[in-house]
Amino acid sequence: MATMLTCPLCAKEVSEFHKRSHLLPEWMYTECYDQKHKLLEVSRADQKLAKKQKGFYGSFMCSECERETQKFDHYASLILTTRSPNSPEYRAVRKECFSEYHRGARHDFSRWENLDFKKFQQFVFAIILRTHFAGKMDGVLSLSTKHLNAILNIYRDNSRIDDYSYPILLTEYPSDDKLRSHIVMPFINKKGGHHTVDFAGAGYLFQVYVSSHSKPRFAESLRLKADGSVFVINMFLKEMGLYKNVVELVHAAKNTSKFT
Ligand SMILES: [Zn+2]
Repeated sequence: MATMLTCPLCAKEVSEFHKRSHLLPEWMYTECYDQKHKLLEVSRADQKLAKKQKGFYGSFMCSECERETQKFDHYASLILTTRSPNSPEYRAVRKECFSEYHRGARHDFSRWENLDFKKFQQFVFAIILRTHFAGKMDGVLSLSTKHLNAILNIYRDNSRIDDYSYPILLTEYPSDDKLRSHIVMPFINKKGGHHTVDFAGAGYLFQVYVSSHSKPRFAESLRLKADGSVFVINMFLKEMGLYKNVVELVHAAKNTSKFT
């Protein structure tokens, strides 16, 4: 009898893993190839550009999980890109943009509503889990077993709606930012005493707070919420302190705007 393998995502026994599972879905980097069709990746350590011939793949989970995660990837592609502007998923999401001035600088952000919270969370978590299980989570830190299992439990349980334990923040790179065309593979970052898993692609930076203690106030305010709303920051913030300014602006805009 052939040796059985245990799929790390669904914990089922299978005879073989899917041969070529992607880590980031391909649509997240289709515009990241240079003229020689090499992929541009930003290295986390030194922000230097690395060139890769191909995308990022591995063989580490079952075919059923591959199909399952593709559903979440597809949903996110409809929401985050303008490729299918007539899809019911794209049309369902309402986006309202704001510009506010704070200490002389203009800050742009938007509030999105009507996202499918669970599907979007599963899309983000699946990327983190795939990268971890493929052994490609670079950096000096890795996900602890405790957090890994907690994220897995939320990911697997469709009836479990939890927007608090591992909050997701979304930043959109400005349209003229060169970093829009670069991808960053998931890695564990540390800012202001908090650990996050960060990755970037398709012009967005995704940040997931990974900790047992309480999250920063701004993360609570801006995060993707169970009601399907999220504040999308339209700038690249290197310092966490800047997020605090943004929260003030968000609250100011809330008070003057029609949204509740
Ligand atoms: Zn599986």
